[in-house]
Amino acid sequence: MVTTMLLYPINAARLNRSLEELGRFGETSYGMERLAFSPADIASRNYTMELMRKAGLETRIDTAGNIIGRKSGSEDSFPAIALGSHTDTVPYGGKYDGALGVMGAIEVVQTLAERGHTTRHPVEVLVFTNEEGTRYHRWLIGSRAMAGLLEQEDLDAVDDEGVSLSSRVADVGGDLSRVDGAVRRAGELAAYIELHIEQGPNLHRSGTPLGVVTGITGRAVFEVDIEGTTNHAGTTPMADRHDALVSASKLVLDIRKMAAEDEICRVTTVGSIQATPNAVNVIPGSAKLGLEFRDVDMDAMAAAERELNRAAQRTSASDGVAITVNRHRFNPSVPIDSGMQSLVAEAAGRCGLAWEALPSGAGHDAQAIASIAPMAMLFVPSVDGISHAVAEYSTPEDCANGTQALLELLLMADNRI
Ligand SMILES: [Zn+2]
Repeated sequence: MVTTMLLYPINAARLNRSLEELGRFGETSYGMERLAFSPADIASRNYTMELMRKAGLETRIDTAGNIIGRKSGSEDSFPAIALGSHTDTVPYGGKYDGALGVMGAIEVVQTLAERGHTTRHPVEVLVFTNEEGTRYHRWLIGSRAMAGLLEQEDLDAVDDEGVSLSSRVADVGGDLSRVDGAVRRAGELAAYIELHIEQGPNLHRSGTPLGVVTGITGRAVFEVDIEGTTNHAGTTPMADRHDALVSASKLVLDIRKMAAEDEICRVTTVGSIQATPNAVNVIPGSAKLGLEFRDVDMDAMAAAERELNRAAQRTSASDGVAITVNRHRFNPSVPIDSGMQSLVAEAAGRCGLAWEALPSGAGHDAQAIASIAPMAMLFVPSVDGISHAVAEYSTPEDCANGTQALLELLLMADNRI
């Protein structure tokens, strides 16, 4: 890292120590177990608030359970510039996803405080509630609440243990009956900046220390039902069968080909398959596939959906089975403003870091906050592209580089927005 030209070099050792200490909450030999609202999550939130206070941030918890650390600027009528991410993990998750954005943001504020630098804008560090959404299968709870995007189904959600989301949010100091209190209006935040690990292999492969995120991928989720005929596995001649699992398997390969060979959209995944009756001596009469497409280009997503329907018709006609394609969810991609992208690139340059523009293949809190504030994201490399796993790792140097770029970005945004 080129630190000699930098006015305010961050404390890389302290940053990596904080990341390590945070990583002890919920640590197991098979990965992180820090599901939102778990005892480990609650303990890590307390740890995080303690660090915030040491850095001179005033902390509060909003009604959605988000942690907000705030420090005044010299111009108190200015809207705040917010930095942040999340500290919950998926089951068997890693130590860097989300954690880097939060620990990095606190390190930035701490460094500026030590140097006696006061920004013009107030600065906020945001830690969003239940980003991963493992427990309720409903994600970005805190950031969507802040953006006023929560739905009734979110508020009514009950987890696998039969506990309501509102009672879990109350456990961390929120109050979903007054969730409107967490909403920030457009204009209330001058910008939101999220530092995150890439969670993919691109930066690691090219040896580039910093990613300028161009947009967050769109995602479409489908369920496909295949109805054939259940019959005896011993007596039904092969030519007379309408085997729903065989038809489903053809579709799995067709769907893979759409991205892998035909490049209709960036990635396609069939993640679940169920056969009924799922018995070794019965021809499966019905099958169900759960699948998703992701791309930042919405035209590509639409083309992929058309191709999915064509493949379903083809298989239905050739196999004599009925196939229904249901679209469950469609989250459009969130592009990042080119002005904000240039700021990130310029911040990288000031730190002497090479950068590469790339889209985010994963979803992030930033996509919700983008609806109320100009948003930017910067990535650091994930070793071997692994994340949501015990092997998730970003080097101390890369974490420090990303945090230094975050500091430069904050200063630039403070001067220009
Ligand atoms: Zn994350």
